[in-house]
Amino acid sequence: MNSTTVLANGTLISPFRSVASDLVIGNGIIEDIRPRGIRRENETYVDCTGLFIGPGLVDIHVHGGAGHDFISSDPADIVAGSEFHLQHGTTSLTPSCLSIPFTQVERAISATRAAAGKCAANIMGYHVEGVYLDREYRGGHLSEYVHDPDTAEYDPILEKHGDFITEWTLAPELPGATDLIRSCRKHGIVASAGHTRASYEQFIQSIEAGLSHTTHYCCCMGNMRFESLQPELTTGKGFAPGVLEAVLLHDEVTTEVICDGFHVHPAFIHLLLKCKGPSRVCMVSDTVFGVGMPEGEIVVGNQDVVIRNGIAIIKDRPEIIASSVTPLVGMLRFAHQKAGIALPIAWEMASATPARILGIGDQKGALSAGKDADLLILDGDLNVSSVYVAGRKWKPRR
Ligand SMILES: [Zn+2]
Ligand SMILES: [Zn+2]
Repeated sequence: MNSTTVLANGTLISPFRSVASDLVIGNGIIEDIRPRGIRRENETYVDCTGLFIGPGLVDIHVHGGAGHDFISSDPADIVAGSEFHLQHGTTSLTPSCLSIPFTQVERAISATRAAAGKCAANIMGYHVEGVYLDREYRGGHLSEYVHDPDTAEYDPILEKHGDFITEWTLAPELPGATDLIRSCRKHGIVASAGHTRASYEQFIQSIEAGLSHTTHYCCCMGNMRFESLQPELTTGKGFAPGVLEAVLLHDEVTTEVICDGFHVHPAFIHLLLKCKGPSRVCMVSDTVFGVGMPEGEIVVGNQDVVIRNGIAIIKDRPEIIASSVTPLVGMLRFAHQKAGIALPIAWEMASATPARILGIGDQKGALSAGKDADLLILDGDLNVSSVYVAGRKWKPRR
């Protein structure tokens, strides 16, 4: 029995270029990219005329979907929320928490581990966002759960789940943060600066300790300020860069951008691409679990959140955005159609780049022979036409 399928007559977004070719898949992997029009015996052809075919999207920062919160201790919630995103073209993801009691973080990670084998989407690990964040820059996180790093608290969770946690968002300026960064590094976890107002010097020290990524660029991220500088080097006063500028300057760190049209002005996406290029900037959805539900009020991390006009805000702090309600494919669409980013570059930022940051770039995130046949097929308006996981077309469960 031959299981080769050819996705024919579409436009492939590799995503490093756009090319009019056929994609050959078999046994769960990509077998070949070949010129259009070749027909062989025992191959099944799927006509993709007018469609874009690219790698399935990879979301490394996502809090839930369709009413299912990724801080749940029930694996069924993790599966259902992940499969909501799969329906929207995200074939791999790392469910993420926000600042909640630490025992609950542990239960959510255990639930996600249990969900990983049962989910049609590829659950690649867990992203711990919190609880070691800057209080003033905590954004949508509740202040009662935000505190300084505590080894007695995080060591046991690293011992138990260090192989499953993929990313830890923390504020590097907090006392003890450097030790946590070193511990993350030891366990192969990406340490990421977020909800931070670190000075330039503190940020550089954190890179030296092993920090390699930054969470949702611009959002809850300290920037340039006028401050006293070291008197022996300067006149004593001057403008000093914050994390925001340091990210642009240092190639050692990658970053995330939320492209929903609400969190970040499109000019910032262009600035990031100009300074860092698409291989160092990934799109993340950062969606709250209310994505895919009717707009209205929900409770997130023990606080009231209002979803209205395509964005989630904190009810009693309406100036604070709580999260997005746009799946990653909606951000890809915004980046291309509204922000004017070329389609292959936008697609790369949502597939190959996050896959590489997660350390799964050899398996996922691009159309090349030998990689997993996790695919997203979009129509000419960039609406989802179909999704493939390991070479099989995915159909939602009933
Ligand atoms: Zn955040
Ligand atoms: Zn988040």
